[in-house]
Amino acid sequence: MNHKDLLSPALAAVWEASRCCEAVAEDMRVGDKQTKEDRSPVTVADYASQALILHRLSRLTPDLGIVAEEGSGDLRDNPDLVARIARFTTRFNPEVNEDTLLDLLDLGDHPGGDGPFWTLDPIDGTKGFLRGGQYAVALALVKDGSPLLGVLGCPRYEIDPGHPGVVFSGGAGIEARMWTSESAPPRQMRACSEINLADARLCESVESAHTAHDRSARLIKDLGISTDVLRMDSQAKYASVAHGAAALYLRLPVKKGYQEKIWDHAAGLAVIEAAGGRVTDLDGKPLDFSQGQTLKDNRGVIATNGTLHHAALATVGS
Ligand code: AMP
Ligand code: MG
Repeated sequence: MNHKDLLSPALAAVWEASRCCEAVAEDMRVGDKQTKEDRSPVTVADYASQALILHRLSRLTPDLGIVAEEGSGDLRDNPDLVARIARFTTRFNPEVNEDTLLDLLDLGDHPGGDGPFWTLDPIDGTKGFLRGGQYAVALALVKDGSPLLGVLGCPRYEIDPGHPGVVFSGGAGIEARMWTSESAPPRQMRACSEINLADARLCESVESAHTAHDRSARLIKDLGISTDVLRMDSQAKYASVAHGAAALYLRLPVKKGYQEKIWDHAAGLAVIEAAGGRVTDLDGKPLDFSQGQTLKDNRGVIATNGTLHHAALATVGS
């Protein structure tokens, strides 16, 4: 199947999961948030989103592997939590229920490599989801080290003020578009045309453990950037560069040796590049998605509107 034919079903899957995540957010109860072994949070919505999307992908492309963030491990001895997740998933798809949920989640255990395979972060920015900030349902198709197609569901992102909920899409030979509703026609988008770093708006993680805020603050001062930094959780940062709200997204390593996860970048990269932007690591190397579940051959990330990339790399690298 041509990857362009997968755009429409991928969009439908991401819309459904995004709606389910917001349904959970409106009804969060004690116990809906759990803590994983690595001490990061996971919620009923992360599991529900993954199960709904994997159900669709398993029927759409049964031969393709899926690299997804969550697994059933922590749920197998917690039937109450499984029942709670199924309460939400069955509203959207009765086939994603208490009996099928655990096995569906485990369809996402592919090791990655050359592909083609899907990669999914069912909720990127779980901390944002919990604090009422941005988060993204991030789905991408990857082949030979690069994403061919990316869909980013951002249920709290506002293009039209007061109307949250945008899905961004793009890929190889696929126009960059943003969808503010599932039924209305999409809008095309382009990264901004800024050519001066001093006038560039920068975005970065909210979490100081995920990017070096002190280092970006120094860069902003050195470059004389006067616009506010846009801090937001998740790959919504890629989306904001892709549609021109920001010109630059920096991810400056805090922990030496941290390997970025492929599901944290694949969909965002597909969207931003389709919109004319560029993404490399801090050494100017393309992100290599063929190295397993992490970008182990890359260090940090710089995403730009394209025109600023060279200058941004030279400045950040120095
Ligand atoms: P963001 O919302 O951009 O801060 O990114 C959220 C993602 O950061 C999560 O999905 C994690 O996979 C990832 N993450 C966790 N620890 C780190 C770290 N030490 N450095 C960079 N990213 C991390
Ligand atoms: Mg993530």
